[in-house]
Amino acid sequence: MSDDIRDVIIIGSGPAGLTAAIYTARAKLSPLVLEGEPSSTSDQPGGQLMLTTEVENFPGFPEGIMGPELMSRFRQQAERFGAEFETVKASRVDFSSRPFGVWVGDPDAPEPTHRSRTVIISTGAQSLMLGLERETELIGHGISTCATCDGFFFRDQHIAVVGGGDSALEEAGFLTRFASKVTIIHRRDQLRASKIMQERAFANDKIEFLWNHQVVEYLGDDALSGVRVRNTVTGEESVLDVTGLFIAIGHKPNTDIFKGQLAMKDNGYLVTEPGTTRTDVEGVFACGDVQDDYYRQAITAAGSGCMAAIDAERWLEAHD
Ligand code: NAP
Repeated sequence: MSDDIRDVIIIGSGPAGLTAAIYTARAKLSPLVLEGEPSSTSDQPGGQLMLTTEVENFPGFPEGIMGPELMSRFRQQAERFGAEFETVKASRVDFSSRPFGVWVGDPDAPEPTHRSRTVIISTGAQSLMLGLERETELIGHGISTCATCDGFFFRDQHIAVVGGGDSALEEAGFLTRFASKVTIIHRRDQLRASKIMQERAFANDKIEFLWNHQVVEYLGDDALSGVRVRNTVTGEESVLDVTGLFIAIGHKPNTDIFKGQLAMKDNGYLVTEPGTTRTDVEGVFACGDVQDDYYRQAITAAGSGCMAAIDAERWLEAHD
């Protein structure tokens, strides 16, 4: 364990965490960023943008930029001002007394690895996925989890959306602006989505439903060219020729290690005081998707990372 008590530890390194790192580093708070560990999911250094290809809606890049390149630039900018990085995951936190304890590695170790006066949580969220073979490699090559981000790339194409909740119908509606046809693949014959979203979807000429079906295989070599689907009632299989597949079966915030320590909504997202990044524990701040189940954009995450840095800085000033 380290004897130093830090001013700020940032857990997570997507747009929110890295923006918080840039701001706290420039405020001379010497932030330590626990950036996560490489993995095949979005729960990795850089977060969800590491699993995207081109990002066209991040302001300042009129020609677009690849997601990993964008995150590498965020990181370089934080490093330039002195942010420190450890490529590890936090395995446990103790917010019951100050300075707060943060563990990496063995969560049962008696002493925390780090102690800090403030902690900024930016661990993000993950899109739930189908878990089929080659899913990760096809993300950005036909498979997407964000219509707002990627719909534009599928102009005049036939695309499918998986799911039967509000997200699926919302994504499908948005995608009809670009696609020639959108097929919603749902595993049952009844939607979970709210009535109003259902009515909108049923009224949209470009939306078709494939009821009682599940995707069982992704087709295509370098990019998606279709999906094999199975009827959940008869077991019969068929192929749907789509060049895009949007998976909208829900999200899961990365909040497991904060359970019992911070207030959470029923869906597991952290609760922050409206208009701030303050959690219900003084000195602990949350930004980005881990506390946002509504906007979920890189730019809104970055904005809230800036807010968290300023909230932490002012909190330290007031409590020093
Ligand atoms: P959700 O309501 O949990 O719906 C998930 C959908 O995905 C369900 O239809 C579910 O099928 C299906 N699904 C889950 N796992 C699957 C799998 N492995 N294979 C195939 N299908 C699978 O999630 P959500 O749509 O993301 O919505 C989350 C929350 O945000 C909800 O409270 C929703 O109302 C809210 N939301 C609101 C709006 C809005 O009001 N504009 C927009 C988006 C989200 P089953 O139905 O068979 O379980």
